[in-house]
Formats: sequence, C-alpha cells, structure tokens
Amino acid sequence: MRYLPLILACLSFSLLLAEDQAFLYPQSDAFKQDLANARLKGLTLTDYHIHIRGGMTLEKAGLRQQASGVQSAVLENFGREWPLSDNAKLKDFIDAHSQPLPDGQRLPVGIQVNDRDWFRQIDPAQFKRLSYVLADTMIQGVTAEGKPRRLWLPGVTIEDPEAWMLEYLAHTLRILDEPISILANPTYLPPCIAHLYDPLWTEARMRQVISKAVAKGVALEVQAGSDFPKPAFLKLAKSMGAKFSFGSNNFDDKAKYLTRWFQAIALLDLQPADLAKPKLATLPEALPPATDQPPTP
Ligand SMILES: [Zn+2]
Repeated sequence: MRYLPLILACLSFSLLLAEDQAFLYPQSDAFKQDLANARLKGLTLTDYHIHIRGGMTLEKAGLRQQASGVQSAVLENFGREWPLSDNAKLKDFIDAHSQPLPDGQRLPVGIQVNDRDWFRQIDPAQFKRLSYVLADTMIQGVTAEGKPRRLWLPGVTIEDPEAWMLEYLAHTLRILDEPISILANPTYLPPCIAHLYDPLWTEARMRQVISKAVAKGVALEVQAGSDFPKPAFLKLAKSMGAKFSFGSNNFDDKAKYLTRWFQAIALLDLQPADLAKPKLATLPEALPPATDQPPTP
C-alpha cells in the first residue's frame, strides 16, 4: 500500500491533464471526418468569435489552432459595462493579444461592440490596430431601470411581437450601418418569441438584412451552439451572394462542438469563395470641432 499516494498523485495529475485539454477539440471520428471533408473542399475554417474570458487565453487559442488546423481569432467586448470599458483597456488588450505565439504566428485580434455609439467612443488609433469588429443584435431598447435590455436574459417579455419586430429589424439594419465586419448570430430572437421565427422573419425582412450585409461587405456568422440563423435565412443569404464567417462565442475555455458549422457547410455546399475574410471597415469622419467663429457669409 506504500505506492498508494504515488498512484493517487498520478491519477489526479492525469485527470488535471484531461481537464486541461478541454480547450482542444475532442478528437472524435465524426469531428475528424467533418474537418477532413471541409479540407477536401478547400475550406479554411476560422473561429472569429473566441472570447478571452472564463479561462480562455491567447495561448490556448493558439494551441487549439495548432492541434486542429481551425484558425483562431480572439476578441473581447468593448463598451460601457464591458471588460474593455475604455480606450486604455482596449490598448492593453490589443498589446497583450497581438504578441506572437511560440510558433511565431500572430492571431487576428478583434472586438465585439454593444454600445451603438461605439465608433464615436473608440480611439481611431486603436481601431486601426484591430483585425475586425463583430456585433450582434442581442441588446435592444432599455429596461424599466433604464439599462440596455439584454434580450437573452430570463424574464424578457414581448407583448406585441409584430410591433417589436419592426423595431428589431430597424435595430438590425442600423447595426449594419456601423463600421462592423461581422454580424454575429443573425436573426436571433429572444426565447419568449423564438417559436414565431417564421412569421416574424418574413422573406422580405430577411432580404433587407442580407442585402445590406452584402452591400456593406459584412460577414454573416454561423455560430456553434446557436439555433440562429435558421436554414431559410442561410439559403437566401447564399443565393444573394452573402459571405459567411464562423464563430463559437465561448464563456469558458472549453472547445464547443462545431456541428452547426458543418451543417451549414453541407446545407449550402459552401465553397472557399463563400467564406468571408473579415476586414476592418472605415470609421466615419469625425464631426468638425465646435468653433466660436461666426460662419462666413
Ligand atoms: Zn460574443
């Protein structure tokens, strides 16, 4: 029995190791086959929605990329009440995450934006250092307390879904007018009205969103683990020439299962030209500084 402590120590170490590997994709046969199929089609898959939170790090994102061949890009939320709540924090984040990995590679660094005036708050010098900007439509309107309303939280109720939808469509189109690169989780609906997807997301409404995304060069995200967008939207988007990007939207460092990505690839028979290469948009011109000079006649 004198080996028992040693055996227990080895066991706990291997458990830790197994736990530590959870940031890598599980090497199931199905996963390997799906990845091989994507490679056969010439697709280079990139996860543009890896949050550095909940134990996820630049190093783990790099190791995941190395082990799987699925490219990693990292981001964090910029805005009031979010981790990058000012330009100094944004600068620190970019500084820390644009460092080369041990293999010499650098991962694309982006932000997710939630405040609708973010492009007026961001320091243009820091904006230029980013690889991309991602936004979703999941915060809309204000709560009774005057806080931005997070549509995914329990307790969100919508009395008149059709009237709400008109506002939500306008909200979505306004976000597409911002200098963003990726629309995340497009056509998301809060749980209380998710069963009304088909009547609310009419083809005419989907067309408005897709044509604006195409016109502005904004990629439409397929997110692991999300029910949105539905196949009808994906098919219409493909037929209208939209570009797609992939994301996981993690809350911890565990690799999410990518079934949704592979389903979209099969459903749409995605080819390399259908995948977005998200790039930075241009910030709108700054408003001219206020002047005391009377206007010249
Ligand atoms: Zn996110």
